[in-house]
Amino acid sequence: MNRDLDVEREAGLDIGVLALQGAFIEHIHRLTELQAAAREVRLPQDLEGLDGLILPGGESTAIAKLMAGCGLVAPIRRFAERHAVWGTCAGMILLADDIGPEPPVLGLMDIVVERNAFGRQIDSFEEPLYVEGLEEGAGRAFPGIFIRAPRLMAVRPPARVIVRLADGTAVGARQGRLLATAFHPELTRDLRFHRYFLDMVRS
Ligand code: GLN
Repeated sequence: MNRDLDVEREAGLDIGVLALQGAFIEHIHRLTELQAAAREVRLPQDLEGLDGLILPGGESTAIAKLMAGCGLVAPIRRFAERHAVWGTCAGMILLADDIGPEPPVLGLMDIVVERNAFGRQIDSFEEPLYVEGLEEGAGRAFPGIFIRAPRLMAVRPPARVIVRLADGTAVGARQGRLLATAFHPELTRDLRFHRYFLDMVRS
């Protein structure tokens, strides 16, 4: 595959990364490596002109409070009606319409999420993931990095599971131009998930 052509393909896309708390810098680095223009989003006006948005990992309750304080909840919901949005880890929690006892934050995806689902001893772990929809498909494992990660308890149509752990636990879902992953592709050097998202942005 011609990597130069690939990089050229991503040029011209403006992608926002919610930059209130958590691992937003790493997403910006991965997007920059792909020649996409990455912009930090802290205020509603930062969404203007963006082609897509990433909600990073971090602490979902803290991010949710800051989002509400910055008046970003309704603008992000409106943005998601017309653009691609990807939530990683805490970002997946923000996208879910059911997060257990607390009220949902954005409530954009038909997914039920359990926070901190992997118990204490293994609250951080790495597992190779085999993902059909990625470049090179399930033939090349994607390094899944899980940090006090949530898991998907239920995924209702039109949302569908796109990635599972070896034991069958669902850890990634897609619903139209919305994407949720329980793990952290931005903490790896493997750019395939970011490329997958940029393809969604363009579609
Ligand atoms: N445990 C965090 C939460 O519930 C998510 C962890 C992460 O984003 N790495 O918000």
